[in-house]
Amino acid sequence: MNASNAPAFSAPVSPSLDSPVPLPVREVLPWAVFIGLILLIAIYFVGAEQGATSIFSGMYVHEFVHDGRHLLGFPCH
Ligand SMILES: [Zn+2]
Repeated sequence: MNASNAPAFSAPVSPSLDSPVPLPVREVLPWAVFIGLILLIAIYFVGAEQGATSIFSGMYVHEFVHDGRHLLGFPCH
């Protein structure tokens, strides 16, 4: 039996949570461009690789992303 009456959990008190922290665009922009490029490459490999334009020969990339292609609604077969 617990002898103390203290609560098991207590919320941390932080006065800085009251105001939102501004994010400077100069710090966010390179990451946004980088993530955008990664997403564009991913969309290319899922949607267009092994189609009219293909970087790698064979059907390995196509078979690897085949379920994702159908999930996203790209025409396949
Ligand atoms: Zn298919």
